[in-house]
Amino acid sequence: MYLKDRFLKDNEASLSYLDLSVQRGYAIFDFFRLVGNQPLHLQDHLDRFYSSAEQMRLPIPKSRGELKQIIKELIWENELPDSGIRVQLTGGENNDGQEFISPTLIISQIQFPFPSSSLLENGMRLMSYQYQRQLPQVKTTDYLMSIWLQPILKDGNADDILYFSGGIITESPRSNFFIVTAEGKLITPGANVLKGITRKNLIQMASTEHAVEERDVRMEEVAAAREAFITSTTKQIIPVVQLDGKMIGDGKPGSVTKKLMKQLGERTGLH
Ligand code: PLP
Repeated sequence: MYLKDRFLKDNEASLSYLDLSVQRGYAIFDFFRLVGNQPLHLQDHLDRFYSSAEQMRLPIPKSRGELKQIIKELIWENELPDSGIRVQLTGGENNDGQEFISPTLIISQIQFPFPSSSLLENGMRLMSYQYQRQLPQVKTTDYLMSIWLQPILKDGNADDILYFSGGIITESPRSNFFIVTAEGKLITPGANVLKGITRKNLIQMASTEHAVEERDVRMEEVAAAREAFITSTTKQIIPVVQLDGKMIGDGKPGSVTKKLMKQLGERTGLH
């Protein structure tokens, strides 16, 4: 891994308890996949990382060229051709726990679990929860609510959460959400969400065959939808077959979703 200007082994790395990420949860990150050692959508992820940093008033201590070089060296060193790279920027060490002085850059390469074949084939069940992420356009490390909700998810027989606010759907804690209407139109929430890179690529890809709208999605529209699915870097596309115990469409992964899963897999090389 890479921490504060040095390449280190994972067990040699440490972060001060005074870092603002530890003291106040002030940090951002981005995460992209490697397919056969090739970063997937690297430009998009770096664009979002720089945008998140700017919105959080955190200067990134490296240029894009330097970041890419560090990433290249990590990939070369670690030999994990189908893994993920996490680029993090914390508020840095600080004594009064308020102002940041010198942000800390951390880049690590990790193996992560793929979605189970059962979720991909049978789809997932979501549970709605009223909540709005802070600074939704920024990829912060704040997943407090999602972690806190884990036991409630288990009790509710659901696989993940779907956040909503004022009757409007936003996103899942780590994924974007889409519905497919009876007419075959794709609709995804347009405001108060993190603009996912998978979401962006899916919209681009699907637009050749489907009308796609980015706009507010009301709860009732999900109930009336023919299909639904979520998108993210780690999951790509997973069909959603239930919301709050009620079936979406016929309660099975829909044909449009399955087609998009196949097309996206062919595009990215992730099958
Ligand atoms: N929304 C939130 C809140 C997320 O944390 C993520 C990814 O972690 C996404 C959406 C999906 O974004 P991407 O497709 O870039 O992984």
